[in-house]
Amino acid sequence: MLWSRLFIPTLRETPVDAEVPSHQLLLRAGYIRQIAAGVYSYLFLAQRALLKITRIVREEMDGIGAQELLLPALNPAELWQESGRWDLMGANMFRLRDRFQRDLCLAMTHEEVVTAIARGELRSYKQLPQIWYQIQTKFRDEPRPKSGLLRVRQFLMKDSYSFDLDAAGLDVAYQKHYDAYCRIFTRCGLEYSIVEAHSGAMGGSQSHEFMVESEAGEDFIVVCRQCGYSANREKAAAQPTPPAAPDPEGDMTPEEFHTPGRKTIAEVSEFTGLPETSQMKSLVLMANGAAVLVLVRGDHQLSETKFAAAAGDPAFRPAHPEEIRAAFGADPGSLGPVGVRLRILADHALHGRRNMIAGANRDDYHLRHVTPGEDFQAEFMDLRQVEAGDACAHCGTPVEIRKTVEIGHIFKLGYKYSESMGLHVTNAEGAEITPIMGSYGIGIERILSAAIELYHDADGMCLPAAIAPFTVVVTPVNIADAAQKAAAESIYHACLDRGLDALLDDRDERPGVKFKDADLIGAPFRVTVGRKAAAGTVELVARRGRQTEDVPLAEAAARVASKVTHVN
Ligand SMILES: [Zn+2]
Repeated sequence: MLWSRLFIPTLRETPVDAEVPSHQLLLRAGYIRQIAAGVYSYLFLAQRALLKITRIVREEMDGIGAQELLLPALNPAELWQESGRWDLMGANMFRLRDRFQRDLCLAMTHEEVVTAIARGELRSYKQLPQIWYQIQTKFRDEPRPKSGLLRVRQFLMKDSYSFDLDAAGLDVAYQKHYDAYCRIFTRCGLEYSIVEAHSGAMGGSQSHEFMVESEAGEDFIVVCRQCGYSANREKAAAQPTPPAAPDPEGDMTPEEFHTPGRKTIAEVSEFTGLPETSQMKSLVLMANGAAVLVLVRGDHQLSETKFAAAAGDPAFRPAHPEEIRAAFGADPGSLGPVGVRLRILADHALHGRRNMIAGANRDDYHLRHVTPGEDFQAEFMDLRQVEAGDACAHCGTPVEIRKTVEIGHIFKLGYKYSESMGLHVTNAEGAEITPIMGSYGIGIERILSAAIELYHDADGMCLPAAIAPFTVVVTPVNIADAAQKAAAESIYHACLDRGLDALLDDRDERPGVKFKDADLIGAPFRVTVGRKAAAGTVELVARRGRQTEDVPLAEAAARVASKVTHVN
């Protein structure tokens, strides 16, 4: 293709509202333009990169025997009401009404639709197993769209669903996806890690997430450099951790004391001279319509995922100030468990502690000498997030916390949808059985964004050859020079003949402009055709690492082709 004919609206300045590198570079390199919050147009270069990614995804999904379908984005409410997710999805789901006032939604995922198809059509065990997939636009009414294509309201997903006769069959489908995902992300040129995303403590089904480490990410993972253990931070099982100081001295009789204006754990710690580990942090959450008091050690953070599982309400929310006032007679900052008639959930780390500090349920007062199990009763469980330095669940080494972007997720659904939506087949004996299901997702744009986050520099993207919109840009320094123009064209055609995705920068621009643009759009290789071309020499530049070498003009295309094979 000829650059002079293309629409590649590059920008010299970094757009002010773009914070993370992938967002800045997608805008600057002319890949995308925003049309509404979290809704983007994919221009020529983005679409080209995304088509390369989806081609890799398709090849690997087809390779495990998955069958490609295309399911409707527009779904009737009834299907989602059957599974119970019409209410559960809350404000995250785009909803609309048709002209007959019937409720519809824009699908965020397709478990309901595939289960409805399966129950209407699958009759016999002989028809199983099945793996169905699609690459389809999904919708999510994200409250705070940001970070370019990382948190959006409309996006592309590869989602697949497996149907099997029994758990052993599901294991096979799950492993096929696991292996296919590894091949997909490796072929896309990403460095990624695979983390456990389930927790035995919650009785959850098996699940893994595929993560790329990035400061732009919003997921945290726990990593053990010693044994290689890694897990989603929200769900990783927390290990016992000793407090910074022994239990405070005291007679285990709660005693009120005045703490004027001290509301936070840090303020009370400073006021009392006791470490944060000697305090109980009180959080009030509304789950299943009732207030629940949650206690964690002063220095710990609540895992919302663990709480949701414990409370049995994924749609829980923080209590409003007036709800807290009504239940405790005090405002946040002075809340505690003593004398409270609510369900109390307490983190394991508080079990066996004595003479702790907690709010007194009276504004500007706290209690000292509070002992869990004596002064109040609670259900003890794992409720906290793993912190950096906590012991590894497998080997005891202090763990690290890393920020990541999730690019894929595989999940054993079990019987949730087949049971609630009535999917049955007959087995060999003629008895009715319920198939077991799995669900597997890949964020298509996230692969592109994650690749940019991983591989960029101050000048632009350094994309892996497999997903870059163009593999090589051929740049004549002076297009008005007939010899340079002819040399560039011959290299360009030689690249095309070798099946390379080549772009000829035939624009009548200063060389600096052309080099800057080529750097920005992230093509892995550039062939610069300058004055030395008359003597049969051109310059080959590898975008990542900027290695530059002079190569004979006649061999330039072959050299690029061999490097592409080498890096993939
Ligand atoms: Zn370990």
